[in-house]
Amino acid sequence: MDNFGELILNASLKNYNTYRIDTTTKYLIKPTSKEKLLDLVKYINKQNIPYYILGKGSNVILPDSPFSGVIISLENLNKVDINDNEVEAECGIVLSILANKCINNNLQGFEYLANIPGTLGGALYGNAGVKESTIYDYLTSVEVIDNLTFKTLNKKDIDIAYRYTSFKKSKAILVSAKFKLNKQDKEELLSIVKNNRLKRQESQPLADPNAGSVFKNPPGFSAGKLIDDCNLKGYSVGDAQISLKHANFIINKGHATSQDIKKLIKIVQEKVLEKFNINLELEQIIIDWE
Ligand SMILES: Cc1cc2nc3c(=O)[nH]c(=O)nc-3n(C[C@H](O)[C@H](O)[C@H](O)COP(=O)(O)OP(=O)(O)OC[C@H]3O[C@@H](n4cnc5c(N)ncnc54)[C@H](O)[C@@H]3O)c2cc1C
Repeated sequence: MDNFGELILNASLKNYNTYRIDTTTKYLIKPTSKEKLLDLVKYINKQNIPYYILGKGSNVILPDSPFSGVIISLENLNKVDINDNEVEAECGIVLSILANKCINNNLQGFEYLANIPGTLGGALYGNAGVKESTIYDYLTSVEVIDNLTFKTLNKKDIDIAYRYTSFKKSKAILVSAKFKLNKQDKEELLSIVKNNRLKRQESQPLADPNAGSVFKNPPGFSAGKLIDDCNLKGYSVGDAQISLKHANFIINKGHATSQDIKKLIKIVQEKVLEKFNINLELEQIIIDWE
């Protein structure tokens, strides 16, 4: 399988998920081109081997048990082409790098997303965003691998909602995307990135492993405030703890397992349901390859 890119056997995934869950995979492959990615998917499909795509693993809760299939990391698919105000980027690019490249070309559009620690693919999959903007605001099209072939989808072909896209219901692999951005002076854009970084440093537990907001905000409510109002800040299961800094974050204090995090999530959902009659819906993705 090593002719599709970098191959690591019996790989640790601890550095491939931001919760730092200590799990492993039989094969970890990092394709070195989109053509090799397609060849790999064709091969895996023919051999009937299970696979899973990972970006930065900043929105997932991986299982504790080892994966017997192939984890595909797109970290080598990270090319960015900028032509005037049109940008084409491969989906393994990290959002902060993409944002910086655009800002250096005086292009506005990704400055509010620059502090989200994921890849373009993960952001497009889950419609990542902040109050001010989302990854789809300036998107024109996405190239995917679907049914063992490359396809291009225009923005209108994709269903998009709060932290949801139709990719969550498909098996498509996101390969690259095109955006049309606006011209803006880079100094203003850099100050937006910096201010947002400072705000995040103040309000989020960035020193501890976590995977961002655990729950979506229910319409009209803040998930963090609901959890805080149940006095759950600091509540722990094993090494998984509700952050003292922000109640909608779970942190890994050292050796938290997937089971610890999932148990804690269940307790939070039960307490919030009991006190406020509100169902907290997960923003993070529980992966189940057992
Ligand atoms: C400190 C912190 C702050 C955060 N702040 C925000 C925020 O402000 N807003 C926000 O929306 N999110 C936020 N997040 C969550 C997370 O960073 C985003 O959801 C991000 O877009 C996930 O990208 P990823 O590459 O890590 O995806 P992963 O976690 O690796 O994957 C997420 C899902 O996308 C799928 N996927 C990834 N790449 C592809 C691909 N190329 N093709 C098909 N499927 C793919 C995976 O299979 C998985 O199901 C934060 C996370 C952290 C840790």
